[in-house]
Amino acid sequence: MSEKAGVGVIGLGSMGLGMARTLAAKGFKVKGFDLAPARRDLAAEGGVHPAQTIAEAFRDVSFVVFSLPTASDVETVVTQHADLLGGEGRIVIIDTSTSEPDVSRALAEKLDLAGHGFLDAPVSGGPAGAASGTLTMMIGGKDGDLALARPVIEALSSKILHVGPSGAGNVAKLVNNMLAAAHMVTTGEGLKLALAAGIDPEAALRVVNAASGRSMISEVHFPTWVMSNRFDSGFSMGLMRKDVRLAHELAQSTGAVTPLSDLVAKLWGEGSEELSDQDDFTRMGAFRADR
Ligand code: NAD
Repeated sequence: MSEKAGVGVIGLGSMGLGMARTLAAKGFKVKGFDLAPARRDLAAEGGVHPAQTIAEAFRDVSFVVFSLPTASDVETVVTQHADLLGGEGRIVIIDTSTSEPDVSRALAEKLDLAGHGFLDAPVSGGPAGAASGTLTMMIGGKDGDLALARPVIEALSSKILHVGPSGAGNVAKLVNNMLAAAHMVTTGEGLKLALAAGIDPEAALRVVNAASGRSMISEVHFPTWVMSNRFDSGFSMGLMRKDVRLAHELAQSTGAVTPLSDLVAKLWGEGSEELSDQDDFTRMGAFRADR
């Protein structure tokens, strides 16, 4: 593949905007589409050609990167527009949305019949990782499609994990986010316990981060976004609630018994109704510390 391959990016939100700009900065010919014109304008400032329709973003490209809120958005875009995929040869959709394994499997099968590829390729690393091309990407799908899409994937990610067949990337991402959601709750509760027992929470956090209770949530999210009262990580309560709900549903559908995760799902749902879906998800850490 020449480094001038065309890439369509659908969804230019907190993650998609950074990914589209990163690809443009690395020499790909990028066409970006978002329902919101303001997001298309921001993409254009970063060297991305703003497509006026999804059809335009699908035309004459070798790859399409999705960064959409839900599996239902992904399904709708593919179902309504897949016949417009108009490049040469096999076109690979790289779906970085946190989506659902069953939906990814069905779309991969459908696109394969049409001669195209679909990788579920959810990411970790937040807007900063998207903007710097240092995401962790966990991938489900065929070896051949990953080989074709590798130049795009390598431009976006510093860690690439091919987890297994279609849907495997989604499963791994839901497991990861269930753990991150649990760490947000447990770290908040740990600092509350420290305060109740007469210890400065900042001092307790320093200990946790130098000892075995640490996680990325305690090492990065608490100092950067919770203790600082910034709450602007760029990942919303609504999207994390979606991930926790999906992980919970996966446990139920597979019969996995996960009592602590079930409670975490409850706390992110009805247990935190005071927080809106538009709030940053890091507010949950302070919320649990204040209960
Ligand atoms: P976001 O809400 O900031 O952006 C989503 C964008 O998609 C919006 O700009 C919206 O206008 C656009 N959109 C919705 N439907 C569309 C359609 N049919 N066609 C074109 N554009 C459409 O969300 P985000 O935080 O960027 O997250 C995107 C995905 O990545 C989600 O699945 C999320 O769970 C996942 N994710 C987010 C983060 C993070 O830190 N924000 C990290 C990892 C994964």
